[in-house]
Amino acid sequence: MTISALVLLVALALFLIQRFDVVAAEREQVLVEHGFARQIDELNAVIATQVDWDDAIRSLDHKFDAEWADFNVGNYLYTFNGFSHAFVLDSSARPIYSAVKGERSDAAGYAPFATVAARLIPAVRAAERQRGPFKQRLGKNNIIIPPIQTTTTTQLAGVTYIVTATLVQPDFGKVLPKGDRAPIVVTAKPIDKALLGAFSARYLLNELLLIEPTVKPDKRQQIVLRDADGAGLVALSWVPRAPGTVLRQSLQWPLLGGIGLMGLLAFLVMRRGGAIVSELIASEARSRHLAFHDQLTQLPNRAMLFERLRLMLAQLADSDHQLAVICVDLDRFKDVNDTLGHHAGDCLIQTVAIRLREACGQNATVSRLGGDEFIVLYRCSSQQQVADLADRIVMSVAEQMVSEFGRIEVGCSLGVAIIDHPGVEPSEALRWADVAMYRSKDSGRRCVTFFEPEMDDALRARRALESDLREAMSDGSLHMVYQPQVDRGGQITAAEALVRWNHPQRGAIPPGIFVPLAEETGLILPLGEFVLRRVFAETSGWGDLRVGINVSAVQLRSNGFAALVTRLAAQAGADPANYEIELTETALLGDDPVTAANVEALKRLGFSIALDDFGTGYSSLSVLQRFSVNRIKIDRSFVCALDESGEGEALVNAMVKLARSLGLSVIAEGVETEDQRQRLLACGCREFQGYLTGMPQNASSIAGLAGIKSAAAIEALSRRA
Ligand code: C2E
Ligand code: CA
Ligand code: CA
Repeated sequence: MTISALVLLVALALFLIQRFDVVAAEREQVLVEHGFARQIDELNAVIATQVDWDDAIRSLDHKFDAEWADFNVGNYLYTFNGFSHAFVLDSSARPIYSAVKGERSDAAGYAPFATVAARLIPAVRAAERQRGPFKQRLGKNNIIIPPIQTTTTTQLAGVTYIVTATLVQPDFGKVLPKGDRAPIVVTAKPIDKALLGAFSARYLLNELLLIEPTVKPDKRQQIVLRDADGAGLVALSWVPRAPGTVLRQSLQWPLLGGIGLMGLLAFLVMRRGGAIVSELIASEARSRHLAFHDQLTQLPNRAMLFERLRLMLAQLADSDHQLAVICVDLDRFKDVNDTLGHHAGDCLIQTVAIRLREACGQNATVSRLGGDEFIVLYRCSSQQQVADLADRIVMSVAEQMVSEFGRIEVGCSLGVAIIDHPGVEPSEALRWADVAMYRSKDSGRRCVTFFEPEMDDALRARRALESDLREAMSDGSLHMVYQPQVDRGGQITAAEALVRWNHPQRGAIPPGIFVPLAEETGLILPLGEFVLRRVFAETSGWGDLRVGINVSAVQLRSNGFAALVTRLAAQAGADPANYEIELTETALLGDDPVTAANVEALKRLGFSIALDDFGTGYSSLSVLQRFSVNRIKIDRSFVCALDESGEGEALVNAMVKLARSLGLSVIAEGVETEDQRQRLLACGCREFQGYLTGMPQNASSIAGLAGIKSAAAIEALSRRA
């Protein structure tokens, strides 16, 4: 495009430049033609002044005076104007005077010119006749007659002459010709170097020459000088001015440079353009890939999954195959993320993606829906086929992964929806698989559930629960109970705050159901704040009776959590020294800086920290070392185990010893029987919490049990009443 425009431009410029030359040459041609005619006119005018003169009639016609002729014609014209020959012819065209180069000569001088003179004379005589006699003009001072002259060019002995025949005429008419025919003066002027030089100087002609008229050399202009018969004698040839060429020559280098530069520019623009175009194409492909693939795993993403799923669902119309939509969700992924950090979580997801692809092979497509959830689409002809694939998936994911973060073991829960008829919306198919997957999770991990329509109802119920919980925080159906913690003598030393939900329709819903739901949905933050407000308000007057508050990992990970706790305690007038924050081991694992900062801050502000469910999480020891907790709570499962064998006792013994050696206090949870209590005592455990020593109950009954009689407690009690 640019190149062709450039070429066109250059061609136009060259054409115009060449036109300049042509036009200039044409103009010069006309100029020279006119100039040469004028040159002859001027020469003729010189002759006329000498010949059209009363004196000339008297001296050349009436009585021929050779002296006069010498002086005024032969010599004069030669000396001043370079006429090499001058002849005077009488009425019968006989030469009566000859001069060659200003000197009078004999009649022989005339002979060479006789022929050309003979060609000119008839026209002179004709004009003379036409003019007629002078009689009628007499009496006037000046008879003003135009000169009667004819001119031609001729060549003699290689010299070209301008030959003119001029009729002798009077000027004032004091003397008139004696007959009808006055003498004629024939002059010849050679077209010589001097004439050419003067002519070319006058008209600024280059290299003016006389050449053969037959050929016109290239790049030269010429006018042909002809004899009386019209035959070409010689050509006046010159090199015409070529302003275009001059222009081109002077512009040549700048022009070439410019063209080169523009060409280079065009080339660069095209190359850059090409690069830009291929970059655009590549980035288009990239953004298409990005739009349809998950960045972490390079698996197809949700958008592409929907596209494929829609297509595969439509294809069910004309095939007897079925489509299995398999939802794969990792178990305990949150724990890995919480404890080992997001980078470890990302690595885990990448590894799982690779394993899923391997397990599924060519016949199934794996995509990542987001988080730790993957979807496998599989065209199958029997449920058994799907079950086999599901088993392969479960096994491959369950395999231990060794990474820079250590050994990680995760399982996965699968939900499978088998669709055998067209007309199902992709979102519906995915929801079914999702429902089945949740059923897998609920019924213990690492298992596969095939979707059945009833399950949908369960999920709906779960969703309903979520929205009900949202409302519960403001509609008064949530409240707190407190479970006593007693010493070996049965004296209440503390109480653990436990949240209760009294659903308006469904009755009491245990926190084991709705707390994890709140953690999954993020509702745990407002729920946690509700608990803190309520607990501080209800227990600020309990004095030394310590209160345990459960805090989930999500809360601990949120910025400003410690500040929130402190503010809420201050608002309620509660002393942090009387509160124990219960954290689980898994909440403290990993290197989340926010969690660490919150724990540090809480400790600094006077709260104590208890490690809840001790012994059930990951590496309890490292947590004990990193966070200086105040107390461990031996999990109920260990207390249960005390009944059957001595193994349970050994474990509890070890835990108590460990706590002692670290200077921590120990409490056993879920103590239900006296037998358990005795065994725990034997292990060195001195504090107990469980149905045996006290059921969870409301704040006022705890205050009563503890014998709290302070004004604040009485006030709190009366408020409860
Ligand atoms: P947890 O922190 O281990 O709380 C102790 C749980 O054991 C309570 O169940 C309690 O009622 C129960 N329990 C106490 N003694 C016995 C016993 O002798 N035998 C048996 N079988 N169980 C006993 P609950 O109240 O259902 O709470 C379950 C879990 O819910 C709690 O476990 C805690 O993790 C969570 N939770 C409860 N309230 C809150 C809360 O306010 N905030 C947070 N973040 N989590 C809470
Ligand atoms: Ca607890
Ligand atoms: Ca516990």
